[in-house]
Amino acid sequence: MKVSFITLGCRLNQYEGVEMQELLEEKDLKIVPFPEKADIYVINTCTVTSKSDYDCRQTIRRAIRSNKEAFIVVTGCYPQTNHGEIARLPGVDLILGNEEKLDIYDYLKRLGVIREDSRNRALKRGDPYIAVDRLLKGNKGVKSKEINRFQGHIKAFLKIQTGCNLNCSFCIVRLSRGHSRSEGIENIKRQVENLINRGFKEIVLSGINLGSYGRDLSPNAELSDLLKILLNINGRFRIRLSSIGPREVSDKLIDIIASSESICNHLHIPLQSGDDHILKKMRRDYDSRLYNNLIERLKKRIPDIGIGADVMVGFPGETDKMFDNTYRFVKDLPITYLHVFTFSPRKGTDAFNLPDRIPKGIGKERSSLMKRLGREKSLEFRRCYLNKELEVLIEESRDKDNGLLNGYSDNYIPIFLDGLDSLKNTLVKVKIMEIREEGIAIGEGL
Ligand code: SF4
Repeated sequence: MKVSFITLGCRLNQYEGVEMQELLEEKDLKIVPFPEKADIYVINTCTVTSKSDYDCRQTIRRAIRSNKEAFIVVTGCYPQTNHGEIARLPGVDLILGNEEKLDIYDYLKRLGVIREDSRNRALKRGDPYIAVDRLLKGNKGVKSKEINRFQGHIKAFLKIQTGCNLNCSFCIVRLSRGHSRSEGIENIKRQVENLINRGFKEIVLSGINLGSYGRDLSPNAELSDLLKILLNINGRFRIRLSSIGPREVSDKLIDIIASSESICNHLHIPLQSGDDHILKKMRRDYDSRLYNNLIERLKKRIPDIGIGADVMVGFPGETDKMFDNTYRFVKDLPITYLHVFTFSPRKGTDAFNLPDRIPKGIGKERSSLMKRLGREKSLEFRRCYLNKELEVLIEESRDKDNGLLNGYSDNYIPIFLDGLDSLKNTLVKVKIMEIREEGIAIGEGL
């Protein structure tokens, strides 16, 4: 039986997508790329913005068009927060929440799609079968499965934590992922060893609120404790941290990043706004002073660190002055790249009911101003590396446009170089020969 699989959204969701694929392959189902014709389609969704919901609905319809007889499974954050809306889409057969992902094979058996006598058949259902757990406070630990590959990737995302105990007013993720839970240290160590033995050169530790890692474990632990243990693993590899909250970047964590060659000098620290009034309305757990002090401490301790930030523009009530505060705040800080989002009202969040929505046109304008600032800051940072050396992990595939090898430095600069295929999936020292306007750096292998 063929299963066509697609995952939308964040690194954690990508990881869970690979978990489900490997689980089904171990049961002798054949995974084919989406939307190749198949007997079963699995759409692993994201719901972070209304645009994500729209993209997911489009993807589900595309799957149904690809084979009207196929059995359609929808899982992930969209049904976790709104399975009623998915159930109203004609042609969906099975709806699973985030906690039910690793039970997908059992549900396919229970619904007679997979049969003991192997006379499997895609049984279309009138109404979808819905299995979505309510993510109760009592849930302990992280449901996970060891993975062995990341299609086309030379770096592997690794889920070490899920959920979040904070309460940002605009955020639907905490509703789709529940409270914070951590994977056990021994499990993570074994998974990293397995991935290193399989040739991965970079492990991206991923979570929803990564910095809260270990607080629910007994005995408690911290992210820096986990890193110390992972650094003892043999092999030449690097560890990258995915997004981490400003309050979660402790001095211990900064010290371990600064003192280790194997942990990437790169942190992605969501800012959202540089205006304290807006930060308060967002219910973020820090103010601009805390964020500013953190970035200065980081730059002082690790001068060549790459620092990325999420910025949300157009939050309800954001005046021109408040936007300007954010713009100046970002401009003055040594942040090296930005991910810019426009506020997306999410049903079920408190910000959804806030008055003073910002007109779309103004939101667009602020977004393009902030994106331009992000490009300027990124170019400024990369120019510092002209004629300097950086180490790059060369990706599996060459760039489609220029045919060059490419990859990221540890401080998250995308670098292109001319070279042989034998360099793919290796850590290579390069000298930066050119910085192009669009920001890419051209290197020469050393
Ligand atoms: S920190 Fe805030 S934005 Fe991030 S997942 Fe938690 S509640 Fe959502």
